[in-house]
Amino acid sequence: MINLIDLQLNELEELMKELGQPKFRAAQVFSWLYKEAGKGAADFNDMTNIPKTIREKLSEISTIGLPEILKVQESKLDGTRKYLFGLADGNGVESVFMRYKFGNSICVSSQAGCRMGCSFCASTLGGLERNLTAGEIAGQILSAERDTGERISHVVVMGSGEPFDNYENLSGFIRIINDPKGLNIGMRNITVSTCGIVPMIERFGEDFPQVNLAISLHASDDSRRSELMPVNRKYPLAELLKACKKYAEKTSRRVTFEYTLVKGVNDSREDAERLAALLCGMLCHVNLIPLNTVKERKFETTSREAAQKFRERLEAKGVPATIRRELGDDIDAACGQLRRSAMVQNLMDQ
Ligand code: SAH
Repeated sequence: MINLIDLQLNELEELMKELGQPKFRAAQVFSWLYKEAGKGAADFNDMTNIPKTIREKLSEISTIGLPEILKVQESKLDGTRKYLFGLADGNGVESVFMRYKFGNSICVSSQAGCRMGCSFCASTLGGLERNLTAGEIAGQILSAERDTGERISHVVVMGSGEPFDNYENLSGFIRIINDPKGLNIGMRNITVSTCGIVPMIERFGEDFPQVNLAISLHASDDSRRSELMPVNRKYPLAELLKACKKYAEKTSRRVTFEYTLVKGVNDSREDAERLAALLCGMLCHVNLIPLNTVKERKFETTSREAAQKFRERLEAKGVPATIRRELGDDIDAACGQLRRSAMVQNLMDQ
């Protein structure tokens, strides 16, 4: 069975061609999936401008499958909603819906689990289960829009998983949600975060020059970074920063560097100064994230005051930096806290 949510408009056109249908039919169906149905994917029966025979044919060969909401936790502090979604095969992924002044934003997962092994992150605890399809990533947005009845205008691919370890499906996902006939989410409102898979950075810059790129840096020297992030052994800092500089020059887009502050590990004065020296002169911005605690991990977070000092040290050397405002603190919805839940299968069986 084809899940129609997995298809980009041109792929749906191919499918319609196989069914002997004109091209505009694909656009009609595509609109039904995303727009006219208003609150996400509709039932085939709702597609009243599609001939009944075609609707029947479609329902024989395809589904409109959305991730199922198994659990929602709402923050009492800021209204952030954390979803646990069940996928068709029993896997589960988490997403976080956030309200900002500029609109609603969602943090989506790109893989069930993760194989990058960063030592402070919850997403990688059980390893990688599998890649999500383009439709499973897009479906997190549709399901959340349906649930809240509100439009989502901004998307960050910062949930569980490494998006550049699932590049083809990530690309399909971006094209689906960017399509004016689909969710029409502007390229500039999409941010993809990577732990630093270097060859993909160049490709991403070519394929999606308008999408924001964030790099998880977290350390300013190779030995510390390799300890925290095994990916650094394959793609060390010099190579990573070279690719980032090239990306910034080519796209004229500012790269965001995420830097999780871990007490006594990467938050000293020397760390700040070394980081500033690495990034000085580059079109970039540093987003400091005081570590969010993960119960299986022993790391401690940097105090607010120390984070502020770290920020000032970067700024003093001309490197723009901000401290990320964390939403959903009371529901473990913050960076690095999203995980594959062992509970999923049980919840789905209920
Ligand atoms: N795999 C991608 C996407 C995940 S984004 C990446 O690495 O960029 C999630 C961000 O939260 C990453 O910057 C990640 O390093 C960071 N993070 C992971 N664990 C964290 C924790 N415990 N506290 C704060 N940030 C964390």
